[in-house]
This record gives sequence, C-alpha cells and structure tokens, in this order.
Amino acid sequence: MNAYVMLGVFQTTQKLRTALRRLSRAGRPPLDLQMQFLRRGRCPRSVALSRKLHVGADGSRSSPAAAPQRLPFSRVSVEDLAVFRKILPGRVITDPDLLQSSNEDWLTSVRGSSEVLLRPQTTQEVSQILSYCNSRNLAVNPQGGNTGLVGGSVPVYDEIILSTSFMKNILSFDNIAGILTCQAGCVLENLVLYLEERDYIMPLDLGAKGSCQIGGNVATNAGGLRLLRYGSLHGTVLGLEVVLADGQVLDCLSTLRKDNTGYDLKQLFIGSEGTLGVITAVSILCPRKPKSINVVFLGCETFDQLLKTFQLCKGMLGEILSAFEFLDSECMRLLNTHLKLPNPISDCPLYIVIETSGSDSKHDSQKLHNFLEEAMTSLLVTDGTVATEDSKIKALWSMHI
Ligand SMILES: Cc1cc2nc3c(=O)[nH]c(=O)nc-3n(C[C@H](O)[C@H](O)[C@H](O)COP(=O)(O)OP(=O)(O)OC[C@H]3O[C@@H](n4cnc5c(N)ncnc54)[C@H](O)[C@@H]3O)c2cc1C
Repeated sequence: MNAYVMLGVFQTTQKLRTALRRLSRAGRPPLDLQMQFLRRGRCPRSVALSRKLHVGADGSRSSPAAAPQRLPFSRVSVEDLAVFRKILPGRVITDPDLLQSSNEDWLTSVRGSSEVLLRPQTTQEVSQILSYCNSRNLAVNPQGGNTGLVGGSVPVYDEIILSTSFMKNILSFDNIAGILTCQAGCVLENLVLYLEERDYIMPLDLGAKGSCQIGGNVATNAGGLRLLRYGSLHGTVLGLEVVLADGQVLDCLSTLRKDNTGYDLKQLFIGSEGTLGVITAVSILCPRKPKSINVVFLGCETFDQLLKTFQLCKGMLGEILSAFEFLDSECMRLLNTHLKLPNPISDCPLYIVIETSGSDSKHDSQKLHNFLEEAMTSLLVTDGTVATEDSKIKALWSMHI
C-alpha cells in the first residue's frame, strides 16, 4: 500500500476539477497538499459520559435506569477461588486495582463490582470453569476487549468476569481458500497484521480494532467499515467453537464455505452477546488484499443530496465500492474539539467518506473520476478530497472512530 499516492486535495469546485484531472493521469508525481488529522484513539475520559447505571450489589447509589435486582446467584467463596486457582494457576485476579478496568466499560458509563477475573487459555479451561460455575450457581460475564458501547461487557453486579484475553493463538490459515481459524481472544488488529503479510485482509474493520477481539466481534455481530462490501459476520464466519453454560463444548468449527449439513447452529451465537455461551474459536473467510484503494471525503448540503450521492455511487462504482459513511457538522465539531481532528475540507452540513478497493488502480481511478465528475456537475457535492496513499487513507478514516 505504500506505493499509493495522494492524488489530490481540493477545497473548491475548481480544485476538485484539478484533482479529477490528476486522478485520471497515471504516473504523475505525488501531490501531497495537505495532511490534517493524524491522531486516532480513545475518546478522552473527560469527554466520556459518566452515568453510573449499574451499582454494586451492596452499592448505595441508584438511578432511574439502574439495573434490575440481583438474581439469587451464589457469591464467590474462598473455596471457589481455590478451585479456580487449581484450574487456572496464576490466572485468577482478585486484586481490586487490577479488576477496576475490567469492571468498567469503555465509555465509563456503567460499572460492575466483580471480585474475580478469570483468564483461561484453552477451551478445556473455559469448559471446566463454566461447568463448575454452573454446579455452584455462580454468574459469569464473558469479556473480550471490553470495547462494547452498550454495557454488555461488564458485570451488572458481582458476576465473575471470564476474559478471553489469553486465548490469542492463530490455529490455522488456509492460504488458498483464505480461511483463518483462531482463538476467540485474538485482537482484531493482530489478525489484520497477520493476514496483511499473507496478502489477505479481515472482512471487518472497526475503530476499536486495536483492542477488540474476534470473539467479541462475533458475539456483538460487529459491522464496521467493510460491511457494505463483504457483508455481515453471518456470512463471513464459517465456523465457531462455543462452550455452553454447563461446560459442554459445541464444536461447529467448520471451515467449509458451503456447508449444508443440517442446522446452522453457529448463527445463533453471532450477535448473542455472551448470553448463550462463550465463543472460544472462530473460523472466518478472508478476502484477498485489494491492490488499489482510494478514499474520498466529500461535503454536501442536504440529506437528500447525500442519499442521491449514495445511489449514484452504487451505480457508478459498483463492485469497487467498499465503504460509504457519513457524518454531520455536529460530529465534525466534536471531532475538532475533542480529538483535534481538523476538517479536511470547507465547512458543510454533511460529510461523506467513500472507499473503493479493487485490483486495478487504473480502472478504479477511471471509475472514481467519472463518479466524482458526475457528482460535481449534478451539484450533489460541493467540496472534497481524494486520498490513495496509505497514511492519508488512514488519516481520513481516523474520523471514523
Ligand atoms: C472506537 C470504537 C469504534 C467502534 N466501532 C464499531 C463499529 O464500527 N461497528 C460495530 O459494530 N461496533 C463498533 N464498536 C463497538 C465494539 O468495538 C464492538 O462491539 C466489538 O465487536 C466488541 O468487541 P470486544 O472484544 O471489545 O467485546 P466486549 O466489549 O468485551 O464484549 C461485548 C459483548 O460480547 C460478549 N462477549 C465478548 N467476548 C465474548 C466471547 N468470546 N464469547 C461470548 N460472548 C462474548 C460480552 O459479554 C459483551 O456482551 C466500536 C467501539 C469503539 C470503542
């Protein structure tokens, strides 16, 4: 991707036309007129909401939206801890300081009061833990990268946190079919890097990729930037291994692209948010790494124009369209204020990010050129910038957190 070149940045229609001309001319020297936003990362804590919806079992604070009453689960005893330590030597955390970050969600909007964090490394260990907890009526909260935005990754009360963070082995990769099989705790970004070296990509990409785990992605049926092109995880996940609440291991870890042998049980677990079992391994179909990528950042005046641009874009970019996202001026203001990401174009009520990915840069550039010219002459967009160089593409995408 380093060979990609920033072809043009434009701020007015005239500049857009100039950039279009450049886009259509192959072999021109790189034009790097402007580089604006390079920071990406977590929203500062001061910015995040601070609703404490959940209080501990014995907590005194409450709120109208507080969690329902604690169900009659057992409480973790000294004997239970001894059993956990036997199953997971050195991987049972009870230190309140170490537990703090696992008890609190990414937005710091909800907080539980778990006193135990378990870190299994194998499916058998997960099975032993769940079987034991089931026999003792102990509640368990599965946790991946803890980047979920709806509070599901942290306990409501004192549930045991079962983290998959130590389950990070890649089990196999079929270089011909592009099928990756790995443990659930693999961080998405690590999988991205692993595949990149093999000329493949993950079919999903999201702002939390540096922390979220593939098991968490499957449990939440995460969408992300590539959904438009590669579809949802219901299509790309080929197999799952799951440990049910009583410790039974459900082996649906198929690596077959076409598997019509009866019920497709794995589908139940995609998006189940940890309610049906703990996902311990995933096999997933990975697309080949595109040879040519372009990202366009456009401004438009009305939502109707935005929808028309989407229609035009689908019609004219067809098979190379890989993402279409939008943000409004208020989002842009928040990005400027809190993440110091400058607006790469002039102020507009609405902004669109379009990504194309294909196998022939000349062909893709021509298609993009035709689309931009049409969008511009029909006055659907008023301003924009085009990036084809990897760092610029990343910078543009950093707006999508
Ligand atoms: C900056 C940022 C950008 C984001 N962008 C997107 C986006 O574009 N699209 C999108 O869909 N989401 C997005 N998210 C939300 C979040 O990253 C996803 O939901 C992600 O898939 C969660 O993965 P995780 O490993 O962090 O799971 P966690 O947050 O740890 O858990 C989420 C839920 O899954 C359950 N769970 C976790 N692991 C397992 C497992 N192995 N087995 C069973 N249940 C499990 C948990 O109990 C919980 O209910 C974003 C979040 C952030 C912070």
